[in-house]
Amino acid sequence: PASVGVLLQIDNARKQFGGVVAVNDVSFDVQAREIVALIGPNGAGKSTTFNLITGVLRPTGGSISILGNKFGHARPQQVAKLGISRTFQHVKLVPDMTVLENVAIGAHLRGRAGALASMFRLDRTDEARLLAEAARQIERVGLGDQIDALAGSLSLGQQRIVEIARALCVDPMLLLLDEPAAGLRHMEKQQLAALLRQLRDGGMSVLLVEHDMGFVMDLADRVVVLDFGTKIAEGTPDAIKTNPEVIKAYLGA
Ligand code: ADP
Ligand code: MG
Repeated sequence: PASVGVLLQIDNARKQFGGVVAVNDVSFDVQAREIVALIGPNGAGKSTTFNLITGVLRPTGGSISILGNKFGHARPQQVAKLGISRTFQHVKLVPDMTVLENVAIGAHLRGRAGALASMFRLDRTDEARLLAEAARQIERVGLGDQIDALAGSLSLGQQRIVEIARALCVDPMLLLLDEPAAGLRHMEKQQLAALLRQLRDGGMSVLLVEHDMGFVMDLADRVVVLDFGTKIAEGTPDAIKTNPEVIKAYLGA
Protein backbone atom coordinates (compact mmCIF):
# COMPACT_ATOMS: atom_id res chain seq x y z
CA PRO A 1 0.00 0.00 0.00
CA ALA A 2 1.24 3.45 -0.91
CA SER A 3 2.23 5.69 1.97
CA VAL A 4 0.93 9.25 2.02
CA GLY A 5 3.97 10.80 0.37
CA VAL A 6 4.05 8.50 -2.67
CA LEU A 7 2.78 10.17 -5.84
CA LEU A 8 3.93 7.61 -8.35
CA GLN A 9 4.85 4.00 -7.78
CA ILE A 10 6.22 1.81 -10.54
CA ASP A 11 6.07 -1.86 -9.64
CA ASN A 12 7.95 -4.43 -11.72
CA ALA A 13 7.21 -2.53 -14.90
CA ARG A 14 8.12 -4.56 -17.96
CA LYS A 15 8.12 -3.85 -21.68
CA GLN A 16 9.20 -6.21 -24.41
CA PHE A 17 9.41 -5.36 -28.07
CA GLY A 18 9.46 -8.81 -29.62
CA GLY A 19 12.57 -10.43 -28.16
CA VAL A 20 13.99 -7.17 -26.79
CA VAL A 21 13.35 -6.55 -23.10
CA ALA A 22 13.45 -2.74 -23.07
CA VAL A 23 12.29 -2.43 -19.44
CA ASN A 24 13.01 -5.42 -17.23
CA ASP A 25 10.84 -5.50 -14.09
CA VAL A 26 11.77 -2.03 -12.93
CA SER A 27 10.44 -0.62 -9.65
CA PHE A 28 10.86 2.83 -8.13
CA ASP A 29 8.71 5.60 -6.78
CA VAL A 30 8.43 9.36 -6.73
CA GLN A 31 7.49 11.03 -3.46
CA ALA A 32 5.86 14.38 -2.89
CA ARG A 33 8.20 17.38 -3.21
CA GLU A 34 11.13 15.60 -4.74
CA ILE A 35 13.18 15.72 -7.92
CA VAL A 36 14.02 12.25 -9.24
CA ALA A 37 16.34 11.69 -12.20
CA LEU A 38 16.19 8.59 -14.38
CA ILE A 39 19.57 8.07 -16.00
CA GLY A 40 21.41 5.39 -17.94
CA PRO A 41 23.39 4.82 -21.13
CA ASN A 42 21.74 4.95 -24.55
CA GLY A 43 19.21 2.16 -25.00
CA ALA A 44 18.90 1.64 -21.23
CA GLY A 45 15.10 1.93 -21.34
CA LYS A 46 14.58 5.48 -20.07
CA SER A 47 12.24 6.68 -22.80
CA THR A 48 10.31 3.44 -22.71
CA THR A 49 9.84 3.80 -18.95
CA PHE A 50 8.52 7.34 -19.50
CA ASN A 51 6.11 6.06 -22.12
CA LEU A 52 4.88 3.35 -19.75
CA ILE A 53 4.20 5.97 -17.08
CA THR A 54 2.33 8.28 -19.44
CA GLY A 55 0.33 5.43 -20.92
CA VAL A 56 1.68 5.93 -24.42
CA LEU A 57 2.90 2.32 -24.37
CA ARG A 58 1.08 -0.70 -23.01
CA PRO A 59 3.24 -2.52 -20.43
CA THR A 60 4.04 -6.20 -20.90
CA GLY A 61 3.82 -6.62 -17.14
CA GLY A 62 3.81 -4.91 -13.78
CA SER A 63 1.76 -1.98 -12.56
CA ILE A 64 1.86 1.75 -12.11
CA SER A 65 0.11 3.49 -9.24
CA ILE A 66 -0.69 7.17 -9.33
CA LEU A 67 -1.84 8.55 -5.98
CA GLY A 68 -2.73 5.02 -4.97
CA ASN A 69 -4.73 4.32 -8.15
CA LYS A 70 -3.22 1.15 -9.56
CA PHE A 71 -3.14 0.48 -13.30
CA GLY A 72 -1.89 -2.32 -15.53
CA HIS A 73 -2.11 0.15 -18.37
CA ALA A 74 -3.04 3.71 -17.44
CA ARG A 75 -4.44 5.64 -20.42
CA PRO A 76 -2.83 9.01 -21.18
CA GLN A 77 -6.08 10.83 -20.28
CA GLN A 78 -6.25 9.13 -16.88
CA VAL A 79 -2.60 9.87 -16.20
CA ALA A 80 -3.16 13.54 -17.00
CA LYS A 81 -6.30 13.70 -14.92
CA LEU A 82 -4.47 12.30 -11.90
CA GLY A 83 -1.96 15.14 -12.09
CA ILE A 84 0.96 14.03 -14.24
CA SER A 85 2.03 16.42 -16.97
CA ARG A 86 4.96 16.09 -19.38
CA THR A 87 7.24 17.82 -21.83
CA PHE A 88 8.84 16.16 -24.85
CA GLN A 89 12.43 15.62 -25.86
CA HIS A 90 12.16 17.98 -28.82
CA VAL A 91 10.68 21.44 -28.57
CA LYS A 92 7.12 21.46 -29.87
CA LEU A 93 6.25 25.13 -29.97
CA VAL A 94 4.72 26.89 -32.97
CA PRO A 95 7.45 29.44 -33.85
CA ASP A 96 5.10 31.95 -35.54
CA MET A 97 2.78 32.16 -32.56
CA THR A 98 3.32 34.17 -29.41
CA VAL A 99 4.42 32.68 -26.11
CA LEU A 100 0.91 33.28 -24.72
CA GLU A 101 -0.76 31.57 -27.68
CA ASN A 102 1.60 28.61 -27.48
CA VAL A 103 0.96 28.08 -23.80
CA ALA A 104 -2.81 28.58 -24.07
CA ILE A 105 -3.28 26.30 -27.07
CA GLY A 106 -0.87 23.70 -25.76
CA ALA A 107 -2.69 23.61 -22.45
CA HIS A 108 -5.99 23.16 -24.20
CA LEU A 109 -4.69 20.46 -26.54
CA ARG A 110 -3.35 18.20 -23.86
CA GLY A 111 -4.54 14.70 -24.42
CA ARG A 112 -7.48 15.69 -26.58
CA ALA A 113 -8.42 14.47 -30.01
CA GLY A 114 -9.49 16.99 -32.64
CA ALA A 115 -7.65 19.56 -30.64
CA LEU A 116 -7.64 22.49 -33.01
CA ALA A 117 -11.29 22.01 -33.83
CA SER A 118 -12.16 22.02 -30.16
CA MET A 119 -10.11 25.18 -29.66
CA PHE A 120 -12.36 26.90 -32.19
CA ARG A 121 -15.44 25.68 -30.37
CA LEU A 122 -14.40 27.36 -27.13
CA ASP A 123 -16.79 30.05 -26.01
CA ARG A 124 -15.45 33.43 -24.99
CA THR A 125 -15.51 32.72 -21.29
CA ASP A 126 -13.53 29.52 -21.72
CA GLU A 127 -11.08 31.26 -23.98
CA ALA A 128 -10.58 34.09 -21.49
CA ARG A 129 -10.05 31.60 -18.68
CA LEU A 130 -7.51 29.68 -20.73
CA LEU A 131 -5.58 32.83 -21.64
CA ALA A 132 -5.59 34.03 -18.04
CA GLU A 133 -4.29 30.69 -16.81
CA ALA A 134 -1.62 30.66 -19.52
CA ALA A 135 -0.53 34.19 -18.57
CA ARG A 136 -0.37 33.18 -14.91
CA GLN A 137 1.93 30.24 -15.67
CA ILE A 138 4.14 32.36 -17.94
CA GLU A 139 4.61 34.79 -15.05
CA ARG A 140 5.25 31.91 -12.69
CA VAL A 141 8.17 30.62 -14.78
CA GLY A 142 9.64 34.11 -15.04
CA LEU A 143 8.89 34.85 -18.71
CA GLY A 144 6.29 37.56 -18.16
CA ASP A 145 8.30 40.03 -20.22
CA GLN A 146 8.23 37.67 -23.23
CA ILE A 147 4.51 36.93 -23.21
CA ASP A 148 3.82 38.63 -26.57
CA ALA A 149 7.10 37.62 -28.22
CA LEU A 150 7.00 35.05 -31.02
CA ALA A 151 8.07 31.69 -29.64
CA GLY A 152 10.56 31.28 -32.48
CA SER A 153 12.40 34.43 -31.42
CA LEU A 154 13.29 33.03 -27.98
CA SER A 155 16.49 31.23 -27.06
CA LEU A 156 16.29 27.44 -26.79
CA GLY A 157 16.49 27.75 -23.01
CA GLN A 158 13.51 30.11 -22.96
CA GLN A 159 11.58 27.83 -25.30
CA ARG A 160 12.10 24.93 -22.91
CA ILE A 161 10.74 27.06 -20.11
CA VAL A 162 7.70 27.99 -22.23
CA GLU A 163 7.05 24.26 -22.62
CA ILE A 164 7.19 23.88 -18.86
CA ALA A 165 4.69 26.74 -18.49
CA ARG A 166 2.41 24.86 -20.86
CA ALA A 167 2.76 21.67 -18.83
CA LEU A 168 1.96 23.62 -15.65
CA CYS A 169 -1.41 24.83 -16.93
CA VAL A 170 -3.11 21.60 -15.88
CA ASP A 171 -1.89 22.17 -12.31
CA PRO A 172 0.11 18.93 -12.10
CA MET A 173 1.53 17.39 -8.95
CA LEU A 174 4.23 15.64 -10.97
CA LEU A 175 6.08 17.01 -13.96
CA LEU A 176 7.83 14.56 -16.32
CA LEU A 177 10.63 16.14 -18.31
CA ASP A 178 12.39 14.42 -21.20
CA GLU A 179 15.97 15.67 -21.47
CA PRO A 180 15.18 19.25 -20.46
CA ALA A 181 18.83 20.35 -20.45
CA ALA A 182 19.74 18.99 -23.90
CA GLY A 183 21.40 21.63 -26.06
CA LEU A 184 21.22 24.37 -23.43
CA ARG A 185 24.10 26.66 -22.55
CA HIS A 186 25.52 26.66 -19.05
CA MET A 187 23.59 29.74 -17.94
CA GLU A 188 20.34 28.38 -19.36
CA LYS A 189 20.84 25.11 -17.49
CA GLN A 190 21.31 27.05 -14.28
CA GLN A 191 18.11 29.01 -14.89
CA LEU A 192 16.22 25.80 -15.66
CA ALA A 193 17.56 24.13 -12.51
CA ALA A 194 16.54 27.16 -10.43
CA LEU A 195 13.02 26.99 -11.85
CA LEU A 196 12.70 23.26 -11.12
CA ARG A 197 13.89 23.79 -7.54
CA GLN A 198 11.37 26.59 -7.15
CA LEU A 199 8.57 24.30 -8.35
CA ARG A 200 9.69 21.55 -5.98
CA ASP A 201 9.89 23.92 -3.07
CA GLY A 202 6.36 25.01 -3.97
CA GLY A 203 5.20 21.42 -3.45
CA MET A 204 5.53 19.81 -6.88
CA SER A 205 7.57 16.76 -7.84
CA VAL A 206 9.69 16.31 -10.94
CA LEU A 207 10.81 13.13 -12.71
CA LEU A 208 13.34 13.78 -15.42
CA VAL A 209 15.23 11.75 -17.96
CA GLU A 210 18.55 13.46 -18.57
CA HIS A 211 21.92 12.79 -20.17
CA ASP A 212 23.74 15.74 -18.67
CA MET A 213 25.40 14.30 -15.58
CA GLY A 214 26.46 17.62 -14.13
CA PHE A 215 22.92 18.93 -14.35
CA VAL A 216 21.45 15.77 -12.80
CA MET A 217 23.91 15.46 -9.94
CA ASP A 218 23.48 19.10 -9.02
CA LEU A 219 19.69 19.06 -9.15
CA ALA A 220 18.23 15.66 -8.26
CA ASP A 221 17.26 14.61 -4.76
CA ARG A 222 17.39 10.98 -5.87
CA VAL A 223 18.75 9.19 -8.92
CA VAL A 224 17.53 5.92 -10.48
CA VAL A 225 19.97 4.22 -12.86
CA LEU A 226 18.93 1.88 -15.67
CA ASP A 227 21.22 -0.30 -17.77
CA PHE A 228 19.96 -2.70 -20.44
CA GLY A 229 16.44 -2.25 -19.10
CA THR A 230 17.34 -3.18 -15.53
CA LYS A 231 17.57 -0.90 -12.51
CA ILE A 232 21.16 -1.20 -11.33
CA ALA A 233 21.24 1.50 -8.66
CA GLU A 234 19.17 4.06 -6.82
CA GLY A 235 20.25 6.69 -4.33
CA THR A 236 21.44 10.20 -3.66
CA PRO A 237 23.64 11.86 -6.28
CA ASP A 238 26.67 11.41 -4.01
CA ALA A 239 26.04 7.69 -3.61
CA ILE A 240 25.37 7.21 -7.32
CA LYS A 241 28.52 9.06 -8.40
CA THR A 242 30.72 6.58 -6.57
CA ASN A 243 28.68 3.42 -7.22
CA PRO A 244 30.96 0.87 -8.97
CA GLU A 245 28.08 -0.68 -10.98
CA VAL A 246 27.09 2.72 -12.30
CA ILE A 247 30.65 3.62 -13.23
CA LYS A 248 31.02 0.29 -15.03
CA ALA A 249 27.76 0.81 -16.96
CA TYR A 250 28.86 4.25 -18.11
CA LEU A 251 32.31 3.13 -19.09
CA GLY A 252 30.55 0.58 -21.30
CA ALA A 253 32.09 -2.64 -20.09
P1 ADP B 1 16.81 5.07 -23.79
O1 ADP B 1 15.72 6.07 -23.81
O2 ADP B 1 17.35 4.78 -22.42
O3 ADP B 1 17.94 5.43 -24.73
P2 ADP B 1 14.84 3.32 -25.00
O4 ADP B 1 13.79 3.20 -23.97
O5 ADP B 1 14.57 4.25 -26.12
O6 ADP B 1 16.24 3.66 -24.30
O7 ADP B 1 15.14 1.89 -25.63
C1 ADP B 1 15.38 0.72 -24.85
C2 ADP B 1 15.53 -0.47 -25.77
O8 ADP B 1 14.28 -0.77 -26.39
C3 ADP B 1 16.52 -0.28 -26.90
O9 ADP B 1 17.17 -1.51 -27.13
C4 ADP B 1 15.63 0.10 -28.07
O10 ADP B 1 16.22 -0.28 -29.28
C5 ADP B 1 14.39 -0.73 -27.79
N1 ADP B 1 13.16 -0.09 -28.30
C6 ADP B 1 12.65 1.10 -27.89
N2 ADP B 1 11.51 1.39 -28.53
C7 ADP B 1 11.29 0.34 -29.38
C8 ADP B 1 10.25 0.03 -30.33
N3 ADP B 1 9.21 0.86 -30.50
N4 ADP B 1 10.36 -1.12 -31.01
C9 ADP B 1 11.40 -1.96 -30.82
N5 ADP B 1 12.39 -1.74 -29.94
C10 ADP B 1 12.36 -0.59 -29.23
MG1 MG C 1 15.61 7.84 -24.97
